[in-house]
Amino acid sequence: METSLIYLKNNINNKMQCHQHQSYQLHISLEKETRISIGKLGGFLFPAGYYIYTGSAKKNIEARVQRHRSDNKKKHWHIDYFLLNPHSKITSAFQFNDVECKLNQLTAGKIVAPGFGATDCKSKCNSHFKYLGQDQTKPAFYANSPLHPL
Ligand SMILES: [Zn+2]
Repeated sequence: METSLIYLKNNINNKMQCHQHQSYQLHISLEKETRISIGKLGGFLFPAGYYIYTGSAKKNIEARVQRHRSDNKKKHWHIDYFLLNPHSKITSAFQFNDVECKLNQLTAGKIVAPGFGATDCKSKCNSHFKYLGQDQTKPAFYANSPLHPL
């Protein structure tokens, strides 16, 4: 019963938003300074603290975020390499109706791994993965963004 309700809800959302560009953000914590190899991008020493990853999915954003939360996957995107490290963890996820790059550029944070998540980026973001520092209370979003927790 519950499953079919969720299916129905997703189905309605997909129909309503089928022409919209959907983006999402993952809030991620890294419990200690860790060197992680990000595929062809190379290895980086990531400081401990909080990160925001901005991505997009043309449909079914919930399924995409579910994939990000899973440890049972092949390393495909840069973020997979980071999330499969045992010291990292997704703390929350949000979806937006904004274009991915706009959302990313309006998000505070420091670039610690140039090129991360930005292979297909045409808006000169440099990275779709930003380091917020060690203070979890820092405002992560730009003020007027609609928040839809996943
Ligand atoms: Zn971009």
